[in-house]
Amino acid sequence: TRSIDRLHYPNLNYGLAFSIEDRQALGIHGLLPPRVLSLQEQVEQTMKQIRSYKTDIEKYVYIMELASHHEKLFYKIIKSYTVEMLPLVYTPTVGTACQMFSHLYKSYFKALFITIYDKGHIYEILKNWPVQDVKAIVVTDGERILGIGDQGIDGIGIPIGKLFLYTALAGIKPHFCLPIALDFGTNSEAKLNDPLYLGLRIKRTEGKECDEFWDEFMQSVAERFGSTCLIQFEDIGNKNAFKLLEKYQNLYCCFNDDIQGTSAVTVAGLLASLRITKKKLIDNVIVFHGAGEANIGIAELCVDAMRKEGVCEEEARSKIWMVDSKGLIVKNRPSGGITIQKEAFAHEHSPIESLDEIVREIKPSVLIGASSTPGAFSPGILKQMTENAERPIIFALSNPTSRSECTAEDAYKYTDGKCIFASGSPFPPVELNGKKFYPAQSNNSYCFPGIALGILCSGMKTVDDEVFLVVAECLAGLADEKDLENGSLFPPLDRIIDMVSVRIAQAVMNHAYRKGSASVYPEPCDKISYIKNHQYNTEMSKIFPIKYNYPC
Ligand code: NAP
Ligand code: MN
Repeated sequence: TRSIDRLHYPNLNYGLAFSIEDRQALGIHGLLPPRVLSLQEQVEQTMKQIRSYKTDIEKYVYIMELASHHEKLFYKIIKSYTVEMLPLVYTPTVGTACQMFSHLYKSYFKALFITIYDKGHIYEILKNWPVQDVKAIVVTDGERILGIGDQGIDGIGIPIGKLFLYTALAGIKPHFCLPIALDFGTNSEAKLNDPLYLGLRIKRTEGKECDEFWDEFMQSVAERFGSTCLIQFEDIGNKNAFKLLEKYQNLYCCFNDDIQGTSAVTVAGLLASLRITKKKLIDNVIVFHGAGEANIGIAELCVDAMRKEGVCEEEARSKIWMVDSKGLIVKNRPSGGITIQKEAFAHEHSPIESLDEIVREIKPSVLIGASSTPGAFSPGILKQMTENAERPIIFALSNPTSRSECTAEDAYKYTDGKCIFASGSPFPPVELNGKKFYPAQSNNSYCFPGIALGILCSGMKTVDDEVFLVVAECLAGLADEKDLENGSLFPPLDRIIDMVSVRIAQAVMNHAYRKGSASVYPEPCDKISYIKNHQYNTEMSKIFPIKYNYPC
């Protein structure tokens, strides 16, 4: 590299933190204002700038630009101001960004775009990515972005955001990470009719051609980056999501965050709730509103968790009811619409359409929404939950905030502060009758960065379902009594970096070595320090090596 690259490459740039001596030695003296500001001082100066923007989307664009020219500062800011920054780089702002991504696009948004027209050439495109030692890919086909539907390639905001969190929250080195959008076309009329939309303006390709494309993609990644390169499937349409996971789970190093990551964090929330209600999971009746990727994943992991409590699979399933857009899922439902995944939870019962009636009839003690239907948990339903259980558990998981099944305020208000509440997107604290409640955020970012870190550190070849129960149990134990008293089921968000991710990675590693799916040998004896030694450092490293005398 040339000295000037120290200012031009985002991974080499320290901005104003270069000392005068270093600037002189590098030959960049005079190219910066004379003041030297430490990275920490730059964090404060940059936060002022970020806060000066009125809208979150302006802040988002500013932050993306920052990431593209001063990587250390960008990650140090997320580390120092996690609670303020997460909603900007992730849900809810990233949702808005995806809706207008083509309009916001700048050349510094770094990602790989592979279209259906590139079929037969995917390997060559992967080779065009300038970094060779990619170890983690987050890939979307843009079909089901958050709860806002098909966004085509504009969905790339999600893989970019997720990988930012790989680094910011788990310390996975930025250059290991590669965000990819696969462009099969889009069924969004708005995108198809938008002359500024930057993806292929064709209807979504489906069926055999799509299947073959995915096969080629998976193979090409393994060929190019090795068989331990992690592939995280993200915001892929329901049908493909389940299909891809089933097809590739035992062949490649991959997982689906919407199905499996969500299940880990939500079951962690449930297990933590049980620490409050002092019950077993099997003592509960659970109604899931929505029977898609998120809720099917959670329900299946609940079955595993209940079985671990000592009951058989059948008994576990009998405690779980699912509701989809056609109402309660029951055997031989006249209105149909029951997929294989839903079938496993279809019980003998007469069909019921309205959630009101379902909650009255089935009497769940746990109600979990992931249906992207705002307001689905009406005041009447919330009140009914207090009839069903002394401390009802109510999770409104849909994202972004505008899709949430109910607000935190309504949940506490209509249950007289009795409910144990969590949501997908963050809600501010709620005051009710002089008591302050801190709504828990059942945020996938508690889990997926740590899971990825554990997978990478042990070089896992495939990722089995058990991993997610191991992670749920680990995370459920990390909230302390004080967190639980306040209503938070999880440790504070700003503990993800220093504590949660490392502990989850450790749990994943232990599991990988126990199961024989690890490939990094010898097995590190002190896993925590092994993990820490592999993490990205947000401090400056020395610009020049140490000099010493040499006799000739
Ligand atoms: P999905 O696979 O598309 O599933 C959506 C489900 O909701 C489907 O089963 C659908 O029914 C059902 N549904 C739609 N309208 C309904 C209605 N009026 N009443 C009852 N059910 C209805 O989507 P997903 O991946 O599960 O995601 C769903 C939501 O969860 C999204 O908002 C997403 O952002 C959120 N999510 C949150 C987290 C988190 O908080 N940690 C994680 C992942 C996802 P049909 O099957 O009949 O179509
Ligand atoms: Mn997702």
